[in-house]
This record gives sequence, structure tokens and C-alpha cells, in this order.
Amino acid sequence: MIGKNINGYEIIGFRGKGSFGTVYKCQKENRTYAIKIFTIDYVLSEFAKGQNNRVTGEIEALKKVHSDYVAGYIDDGSFWDNGWEYIYVVMDFVEGQDLETVMNNRKIETDEAMKIFGQILDGIESIHAQKLIHRDLKPANIYLLDNGDIKILDFGLSKLIDYTSITNTGDQLGTPLYMSPEQISDSKNIDYRSDYYAMGVILFQLLTENTPYGAIRSREELYYKIKAEPPISIRFFIPTINNNIDNLIMALLQKENYKRPNSIQDIKTYIEQENETTKMPAKSFSPSFYVRLYDDKSVLKQFYEDGYTVENVIFPINYQDRQKNLLKFIKSSDINIIIDPATMRLAYDTYADVKGLKMLPYAPKDFGRLQLEDLENYEDKKEYIRKVVDEQLKHGVKTVVAPFHTSNNSTVVKIKMDINENWFSLDVKLLEETKAYLDSINFEGKLVGGFCIKADILTDRKEREYFLNVLSGLHCDMYWIYVDSINENSNVSQLYNYATALLDLQKSTNKPVIAGRIGTFGLILLAFGLYAFESGVSRFESFYEELYKDASDKPYRMPVRYYIPELMKTISVERKNPIRIEQLLHSEVGQDITCHCQYCEGMEPMLLMNDLRTKKHFLYRRNEEIQLLRKMSTMEERVAYMKGRIENAMEYYKSLKPIFIDDDSKYLKTWSEVIEKLQERMKEC
Ligand SMILES: [Zn+2]
Repeated sequence: MIGKNINGYEIIGFRGKGSFGTVYKCQKENRTYAIKIFTIDYVLSEFAKGQNNRVTGEIEALKKVHSDYVAGYIDDGSFWDNGWEYIYVVMDFVEGQDLETVMNNRKIETDEAMKIFGQILDGIESIHAQKLIHRDLKPANIYLLDNGDIKILDFGLSKLIDYTSITNTGDQLGTPLYMSPEQISDSKNIDYRSDYYAMGVILFQLLTENTPYGAIRSREELYYKIKAEPPISIRFFIPTINNNIDNLIMALLQKENYKRPNSIQDIKTYIEQENETTKMPAKSFSPSFYVRLYDDKSVLKQFYEDGYTVENVIFPINYQDRQKNLLKFIKSSDINIIIDPATMRLAYDTYADVKGLKMLPYAPKDFGRLQLEDLENYEDKKEYIRKVVDEQLKHGVKTVVAPFHTSNNSTVVKIKMDINENWFSLDVKLLEETKAYLDSINFEGKLVGGFCIKADILTDRKEREYFLNVLSGLHCDMYWIYVDSINENSNVSQLYNYATALLDLQKSTNKPVIAGRIGTFGLILLAFGLYAFESGVSRFESFYEELYKDASDKPYRMPVRYYIPELMKTISVERKNPIRIEQLLHSEVGQDITCHCQYCEGMEPMLLMNDLRTKKHFLYRRNEEIQLLRKMSTMEERVAYMKGRIENAMEYYKSLKPIFIDDDSKYLKTWSEVIEKLQERMKEC
């Protein structure tokens, strides 16, 4: 290459070999630059396809990175040589010495190490701000200038690169010491927190001149240690190091990326906390409830007329024409609304029978069910997203839900990040593209990442961690999780893993999580700190895939049920002959479980069985429960309250023996065991 002239850039010297491609020193109009050259064969087929717009997109992002600590973009292009097509990127030429050489030559004092690390943080922050991941951050890629500042090199475009094609052709892939565990296992599916891991290793080295894994004799040994062995504590080398630095390094070097800090700001917080207490402060979320609306036309309006309010609703988009007045009412009030784009249902055959779905601009035109192949192409994905988002935005909402689907992700088909295999990985991509679309139209509201998985995914430790790793790295503002099928028959293990997965997701991201379609168990989630849960008004609630196979326009033929908070459940009401309600209210504990809200007070059971009244009673009592939880300032207090309610309910059931059999109250015993397990876990943390 040396001596060659590429579109005016004369190659004058070899600079180094990056993780992909080669970097040369070049000159144009008497100025010196660095030029990185790699063959188009290295570009992933998914990026190279079509009009190459993903390549352009990545370069556009690269252009927008502006930082004093990052080598700047100058130019890019492509050229042919000997029958091969090459891509090149011209960057600032950085004079100085790379950190690897510096560390070999002299000791770096703690103050200097922290200053360098601070600049690396700023540089990486500006790279990540453009959704770029460095992927090959290491001392050899960081230059120390004469003035003591640093510049980060060799970033950008790496997302485009098909690493398998590089390894096939025998090139060296990255420098293993700085590679995160996920980079070793699955280099295609990493996120920005892989760079955090590398920063952990770099900080460790800057401070100690050692690696966090001690002496390493072979690449295999290193791979094993990175994946499985805990790093050595930095205290082993510097016993006097501040706790916060020790904690920060340990956090950055976590094997699971959801356990690492979630943002550069989080990392800075660690550094700024000089004192002993260095746990990241968890945000506290106000316990909330989302009402999923169906045919609840006048319920809400009447409830308001009675002087009550509802804070949050979820409105299924297929009702936008049939429930115009309800929608209008919500918009005119200060109710926080999330419009469910109902994309989940499109993946099932029968949606064509549902009027509101068929009319959606993003429903497949032939009324066939939406399939993975329909969204394989990048342009198709973009169009689908645009339609799904615009359909919500036309209602002036401040919260947008990215399209998501029911995935057939049983434990047989593991949730792997492969678009050809399941909806889960496609939904991850759709969410990131939705974010890009919202940014492009300068949307200032919130983006909700909806996901839908099977309960058994969460009971498998590896799968659960994978789920958390992937979700916690996404660029949304809140999460909305459906788990099939968590209900009153779920066992302790299912419920416990369900609860911990949702709580861990919220804790690791500091972003609110809504549990989709869950009944009274949702209150227990709130007690442990989850932001919100969602259910319909006065219905048996749990999410199961079968719901979406039901073509009926009615809410899945789910009859209205009467909520008895004292029993922590809704019970079926046979309107023609409400014997059970009658028996309950006239039982030994009838007085205790009689509701005194304005909708029930003094009512004969027969009259109680009125849909509208039953629904308003539900809203009133649920509201009361949420307000009560809010008044309790500590988790201990909230959990004790929920435990008390469960104990009381168990007592009631004892007195209701002839009406209920033992099996009817089994869920309470399960819940109480789940609470105990969750409490034990809290103590361990
Ligand atoms: Zn009532």
C-alpha cells in the first residue's frame, strides 16, 4: 500500500494493525492523517445488502463523535485494488505514545491513572452517545499526548464487521485480555457495556501494572478465566486503595453485563463517592397500577364523575374506532396513557377477524399472519416501525411502545440472538430501530420496550441471565414485560424467578418496569419495589399466549369478576344466580369481607352483580391499595403489609371451608413462600 494514492491521500507509512483492517499514515495537501483500510468482504452481509445505507449510517454516526479525547473523523470512501473492493476511513493523525508503551516504560501514579481514566470515560461517552461501541478498547488504542491528555483511536465501523470472516482468513481478533466474557462467547451480540468491561481491565492495569487475572500462560487459560474466574481484588496490589475504586473495578469486571454499571454517569458516581458506602443508589419508584381497558366505555367516565381518578391506562389500539369517546375522555383528562400497538396479535392467524386490527396500517395486507420473514429486510423493518409509531403518535401520546410480539421461545428453542430463530431477537432489533426513528423525528417523550417471554425461560439460570443481559442494555426509558403463563396456579419457583427477573431488570437499569397482565400478585411485586403492574378491570388476569389466538372481538370472553381484596382475588359471578357471593356475604366472616365502598355499601348480592358497579368497585379498591402502599416509605413496611394480608386471607378461607375447598386457597401459601424467599434474597444482597 505504501506509496499508493487513494483519492488524494498518499500513503506514506505503516501505522499499525487494528482489530480489523490496517492503519497507515497518509498525507494530503501537506497535512498528515491516519487512514484505516479494510476490504468490503469484512462487512456483515446484513449491512452490505441493499443500498449500503447501514454502512452510511455507521459513518454518519462516526462523523458526529466530537470529543477532545477521541481522534476525529476526516473523510471516508471506497476504492478498488487488484479486484478487491476496500473501504477507508480517514481520521486525525495522533502524535504521542500509546498507553501500552507508556506503561512498559514507566510507572503511572494513582492521580495520573485516575485522570487518564476520567478522559477515557469522557471519550467513550461521546462514542456511545452516537450508538457506536468501541469493541476493541485497550491501552494500545489509547494515545497519551505530550500535554498529558489522551486520545482514543480505532473505533467506529466495528459494528459492521463480520468477525467470523476475519477469523476465517486468519487475522488476529482483538486482544483477548480486554475482551468481555460476552465478546468471547458471542462477539456478534454485545452492547456498550463490553466497553465498560475493557475499561475495568485498563483501570486495573493503570493502577497496578498487573492484570485482574494474574499471570496467564495461554490464550485458552485467559478465555477460561475471563468467562469463569472472579478477578483478583485490586487490594491485593494496593491495600490502601479507596473502597470506591475497588468497588468500581469489581462492578466493571462483572461477568454478566446487567450487573455492570449501566451508564457512564453511574461509573462517575462511583468515583465521586469518596466514602465507604459505595452501593449505587437505587431509584425509588412510586408504586403504580395500569388499567388495561376493554369495553369499559362508561366505567371511567362515571368513576370520574364520582370524584375519583385513574392515573394510568393501557389502551389497545384496535379499539381506537370503536371506543372513540373513551379515547377522547382519556385525552381530555390527565390520565397517563400507553397505547398498546397490538402487534402481538398480528403474529396469530385469526387477527383478520378482528375489525380494529385488520384496519391497522401495519397489518399484513393479505390478512396472513405476520411472520419473521416479513421483517427480515432492513427497509421492511423500518417501514413497519414507522407505521406502528405513527399510529400511536397520531393520538398525541407522550409514551411510545416499540412493536413487540409473542415469541415461541420455550426452553426448547432458547432465546438466542438470531433473527432467523425467534421473535425475541427480532423485537430487540425493532426496539433499537424504533429508538433511532424517534430520535430522527425529535420525539421528546418516552420509549417503552415491550417483551414477551415464556415463564420457563426465567426458571433457567443461564436463560434468565441472558434475558437480563440483553434487555438491560437497550435504549428505552421503561420496560413492559409479559410472561406466559404466570397465574394463580404457578408454583413457587416460577413466581420467584418471575419476580426476581423483573426486579433485577429494574434494579440494574434504574428504569421502571411494568409487569404485564398480572393479578393481585402484582401487589407483592410493588411491595418489593417494582414500579407497576397492569391488569384489566375486574377480570381474571394473567398473560397466556392462547389469548391471542382468540378471534373474538370481545375481550377474550373473559367475564367480569368481583374483586374481594380480603381474599386477594377476583371471583366469578354467575349473574343469574350469584349463590357464591350470597353465601360468602352471609358466612361467618361475611361482615369482614363485605365491601363498604360507595358502590357496594348496603347492596344485596344480587344487585352487586352489575358489571358497571363491579368494575367501579374494582377501581376504587385497587386505587385504595396503591395509595396505601405509597404511604409506606420502606420496603420492609410494604412487605409486612402484604404478608399480613396473606395471613388474614388464609384465616378467612378457613372459615369459608364449605364454600371453598383447600385447593382454592393454595395460591396464598405459594405467595407467602415466594415472599419469604424474596426476603432472604434481599438480606443476601
Ligand atoms: Zn366495593
